[in-house]
Amino acid sequence: MINPRGKHRIGFVIDRESRYPPLGLAIIAALTPDDWEVILKDENFEEFEFEDADLVGITSFTSTVTRAYDIAKQYTSKNIPVVMGGIHASMLPEEAEKYVDAVAIGEAESVWKEILADFENGCLKKRYKGEQLSLDHSPIARHDLFHKDYMFDSIQTTRGCPMMCEFCSVHTFNGRAYRTRPVEDVLNELETIKATSLMFVDDNIVGYNKPARDHAKAIFRGMIDRGIKKDWFCQASINFGDDEELLDLAAEAGCRLVLIGVESEKTEALESMKKRSNLNAGVDNYQKIFSKIQSHGISVLGTFIFGLDTDTVEDLQNRIDYIKTSNVDAAQISILTPFPGTITYKQYVDENRLTANNYPDDWEKYWGGHVVIKPKKMTATELNTYKFKAVDSLYNVKRLMKMLRATLKTTKNAKAAMWAFSANAHYNNMAYEEDESKHIKLKDIFGSLVDQYK
Ligand code: SF4
Repeated sequence: MINPRGKHRIGFVIDRESRYPPLGLAIIAALTPDDWEVILKDENFEEFEFEDADLVGITSFTSTVTRAYDIAKQYTSKNIPVVMGGIHASMLPEEAEKYVDAVAIGEAESVWKEILADFENGCLKKRYKGEQLSLDHSPIARHDLFHKDYMFDSIQTTRGCPMMCEFCSVHTFNGRAYRTRPVEDVLNELETIKATSLMFVDDNIVGYNKPARDHAKAIFRGMIDRGIKKDWFCQASINFGDDEELLDLAAEAGCRLVLIGVESEKTEALESMKKRSNLNAGVDNYQKIFSKIQSHGISVLGTFIFGLDTDTVEDLQNRIDYIKTSNVDAAQISILTPFPGTITYKQYVDENRLTANNYPDDWEKYWGGHVVIKPKKMTATELNTYKFKAVDSLYNVKRLMKMLRATLKTTKNAKAAMWAFSANAHYNNMAYEEDESKHIKLKDIFGSLVDQYK
């Protein structure tokens, strides 16, 4: 099994703190019968070199698919079959099947054994369509296959999202039903994980209704009761801040940072992208919600999109100013990127507004840091300029030190503050991926102190 790394993902994986293991491959490995030997080659740590195999499974995001196709060619040219899964191949199977022998579309758990059996019988099909199964019998992922130098391990407790945000592919790939794993399974898997830092990869760990929130609470309570001591971060919708009991339990179970998709501070923009969860919360309530989360010792990483169809250059300046005055501890700035499988992608294809369209090479630019579109109310150059204006004014060291003090004050938690600082520094380094002189290096600022708070 191979986890490829695209050229532009180097920014994501430049430091140990920002590498995340390929959980999907570890789940598929766990479903592989014992008479197979599974080897995981992970380009997060070293560039892949051809190694003999009977069958190759490769996954990829849109930004890594160009590299994935290159690796696949090394095998298909030697008549070694390659099966590709993951979000990109699932959304554009007709493209992927030009480069590989078989494509696993969607969640691959339900078809993996069939793929192996067909391979053994010499009758691999071109396409396999995975179902969105209940998570009642999900296996414990093979965390033992991950490279030993990963700082963060990862785990999944739910799949799916009932929301329909137009820029997002989760509802297409994982469906609109919110499926939860049995709490005991999650806790048992957590006990197999050696790393002390962890990411819950769920798109929204608390869901949108009481049963979903109760599921999250039961996991946090179980972690406390079983003495599972981890520091972790998660992704959640803004309603994470609605429930005092949930916040208490999350903090006690080790939550240090939560990523919340803020996207925009303007109601009109949220309406245009159908970001219902934020509209329900109300933009005027954002800051109150962030404060409540912080008062429980958890820092807030807000994500913001630049280049929406409603955005003018004045809006982008206002968004920068908003981020500076809102009390988010860390901010991720992404340029609107229409990923295959999203409603936004279809719109941009229909309107002929994708400017990076020399595929598959240009897929490397689809990671949120490049302008790959023709914006509606500004030029591509203006959009890029405002991205760097945001980067320079949000992530300079002076401001980050000020933010660190503010986060320490609001969360009273050194790890929450350091993780927020570290996230900001990484976003700066990603933006300046090709100019190392502009990188912010935690070690240079904090010396060995940084190791205590990783
Ligand atoms: S952005 Fe978040 S809330 Fe919206 S569809 Fe995607 S996962 Fe759901």
